[in-house]
Amino acid sequence: QKRVYMFDEGHKGMRQRLGGKGANLAEMTQIGLPVPYGFTVTTDACHDYYEDGKQLSSTIKEEIIQSLRKLEESTNKQLGDKEKPLFVSVRSGSVVSMPGMMDTVLNLGMNDETVEAQKALTGNGRFAYDSYRRFIQMFSNVVLGIDMYFFESHLDEIKEEKGYVNDPEMTEADWKEVVASYQEIVEKHTRQPFPQDPIEQLMLAVNAVFDSWNNKRAIIYRNLNKIPDSYGTAVNIQSMVFGNTGDDSGTGVAFTRNPSTGENLLYGEFLLNAQGEDVVAGIRTPQPIAQLESAMPEVYKQFVDVSLLLEKHYRDMQDIEFTVEQGKLYILQTRNGKRTAASAVRVAVEMAQAGILTKKEALLRVEPEQLNQLLHRRIDDNAELNQLTKGLPASPGAATGKVVFDSEEAQEFYARGEKVILIRPETTPDDIQGIIAAEAVVTSRGGMTSHAAVVARGMGKPCICGVESLKIDTPAKTFKVGDIEVRHLDTITIDGGTGAIMLGEVPMIEPKISEQFNQLLQWADEEKAIEVRANADNPEDSSKALELGAKGVGLCRTEHMFMQPDRQKLVKEMILSSTVEDRKEALEKLLPIQQEDFEGIFGVMRELPVTVRLLDPPLHEFLPDKEELIVEVTTLRLTEPQSEELKEKEFLLKKVNELAEVNPMLGHRGCRLGLIHPEIYAMQAEAIFNAAITLHKKGIQVKPEIMIPLVGHSNELKIMRQLVIETAEKVLGAANVKVEYTIGTMIEVPRAALTADQIAYEADFFSFGTNDLTQTTFGYSRDDAEGKFLQSYLEDRILPENPFRVLDNEGVGQLVEMGVKKGRAVKPSLKTGICGEHGGEENSIEFCLKTGLDYVSCSPYRVPLARLAAAQATI
Ligand code: ADP
Ligand code: MG
Ligand code: MG
Repeated sequence: QKRVYMFDEGHKGMRQRLGGKGANLAEMTQIGLPVPYGFTVTTDACHDYYEDGKQLSSTIKEEIIQSLRKLEESTNKQLGDKEKPLFVSVRSGSVVSMPGMMDTVLNLGMNDETVEAQKALTGNGRFAYDSYRRFIQMFSNVVLGIDMYFFESHLDEIKEEKGYVNDPEMTEADWKEVVASYQEIVEKHTRQPFPQDPIEQLMLAVNAVFDSWNNKRAIIYRNLNKIPDSYGTAVNIQSMVFGNTGDDSGTGVAFTRNPSTGENLLYGEFLLNAQGEDVVAGIRTPQPIAQLESAMPEVYKQFVDVSLLLEKHYRDMQDIEFTVEQGKLYILQTRNGKRTAASAVRVAVEMAQAGILTKKEALLRVEPEQLNQLLHRRIDDNAELNQLTKGLPASPGAATGKVVFDSEEAQEFYARGEKVILIRPETTPDDIQGIIAAEAVVTSRGGMTSHAAVVARGMGKPCICGVESLKIDTPAKTFKVGDIEVRHLDTITIDGGTGAIMLGEVPMIEPKISEQFNQLLQWADEEKAIEVRANADNPEDSSKALELGAKGVGLCRTEHMFMQPDRQKLVKEMILSSTVEDRKEALEKLLPIQQEDFEGIFGVMRELPVTVRLLDPPLHEFLPDKEELIVEVTTLRLTEPQSEELKEKEFLLKKVNELAEVNPMLGHRGCRLGLIHPEIYAMQAEAIFNAAITLHKKGIQVKPEIMIPLVGHSNELKIMRQLVIETAEKVLGAANVKVEYTIGTMIEVPRAALTADQIAYEADFFSFGTNDLTQTTFGYSRDDAEGKFLQSYLEDRILPENPFRVLDNEGVGQLVEMGVKKGRAVKPSLKTGICGEHGGEENSIEFCLKTGLDYVSCSPYRVPLARLAAAQATI
């Protein structure tokens, strides 16, 4: 089988064999662009190389020599020739672009004789010796493994000796001197003279490229980007063109559009009288590409034509390398340009508008997760960063604030109008108020799905988790990273999108939703075959959801209303009541407040459906922490044994003990609460209907969907449904108002899915609560799993993914499918949706679509992502 392809034998479809760079060089050759001729040694040869114990077989060597002969014929030059020497570059190029991961050798073929021939041919000895010393430097580094430092420091010494600042001041004699001393450096390191035989140079270089496939940084990069080790790299051998012959030459890199904004304008840099990597190496400051126009107008015009042609040909923004040799343009590389989220969106939309792409193709061009970047404040790209440390980028966005170490303090400072960042080892549900008050949250433990991460993402608040280098001393209110100590109320800045923590304040850019962003999502809405709603517990979140394109609220958690500080007293009163009468009295006081909550949300969502879940968590979650109470009671007994306060606290402690559960996740919560204390659900239903009446009077016909949580047996739902209907009849009847409401349930325990047909008799809709359904199906308590064993499960690949992040299609997914099928068999009109966090995750959305759900519901900030992911899944 063929192991070497000349550039005119390949094409862009041969990426797997020729590597990305080789395939595109072949393609550009085929379409007639000015590409220096050459050939590609395939990735198959790379596999052979490793199979043969890291050496090139004689047949591959033979094929390389034959191809070299063809190259020599076509260029009319020969490698190592004393009159017309050929010089080549040896360039690595893997299947997937691995920028900067592997190395390239330029000017191969240079030796003591060919350098003189090059001098004679060009009449430019300075150039010839400069090229030679570059070759020795690169070859020694890449192939012989000698550290660049030895060459660079030597060159610096010589320049200093001669009083030069820049390389261009070096003369031919100077470079000649450098070449001689470089050869000495090599001999000192390898105990052998610098190889003079060009064929030997070539074979050694090919070996080195193949070897580089398994160097450390390449392996790390592959692991990070999930690139299979089995791909291997190809090697491209290409005749050299020189950008460093004088001021009619140069080299540059350009993007066909702006890679950070997407603006449709050639964007790039070039350097006069320079070779290859000088542009990226930062030795000299390159000039903006527009200045090429004044320096070489003809070349510029030609380059603009090439860039337009390449973009059309590849139907995507291109990143192009070029070199000008004595006024003639050569193209050395093209690939699809890497870009920011903003650029990705703008390029996709504008290419569709220009007819280069179809709308569907444009929708597939943007990664849904990328959209996140666009909705959050972020750090100015030009800012100087004083980075302290890094953690997991748990929730995007940037924030600056003073550090505080507990939730109470966060609230205190927030109340005074201060911006704070909450630093905790980890957060618990008790920290909710602190998280609300803080600009951002940082935890030293926990992963991307820890409590802090989930809550912060839900609120669209920046969060960094698992910052292991952060040594927090909570009592002392300080944290340390290495030797650096950050104290209480010191200012830091965090970037939740990258996980970086910085000292002090850093300039930020506010998010701006672009015209193109809205356009793309509008196209997504036209394509997608599944609706997107948002989880929202208050009017602010509802407005955000609406603004970001949600078509309703899929989950309104009423317990969040109970947790507001101004309600806590009433809620406590309600829980502590010893008789039903007392409890009803307390509920009576909560009713108008709850009603106001609903009026707020309904007022925002108007005619769109709002699914309200009746109270779900166990009651003890609303009471103070038991350990803390014990400390308080003990102290009071010693200091003020007669006080009223002690009596109160003792009573509270007794109640807390009564309500305490061994397994709260599986305890007295959800509809079990409603069944034992029907007055609570009745009050909530009344508040919902009262709110609907208020809006009805304003001419708004709201559509409440009342949802009973944690049902496992149809009888549970039957009784609760009856309670809601009775309440509706009473409240609506008295006001003589009609409200279009429905009653449904969450499917979040396996038994509900298994008996979905029976449950469907009592339900107008099912909402799959996949957070709890995942807990109950796996038998994991999420808080324990994520903090303890799940991480090592993932590392050891016992589980392919965190099932709380990506819906487990195989297991939990079966229950969802079953629920939908059994439910619809009984009630074809049954509305179905998902309201777990999975509703905002790409793969899970695809599953929901396939399973035939009517909608997904996710946090407001993930709505755009979900709209795009839904469209992509539909296409
Ligand atoms: P990388 O993948 O790191 O960009 P490349 O193989 O593309 O490595 O090459 C590094 C630099 O050398 C680039 O600027 C490229 O344009 C330049 N270069 C590569 N081959 C040649 C050649 N035959 N003639 C002139 N310049 C070249
Ligand atoms: Mg390159
Ligand atoms: Mg639940």
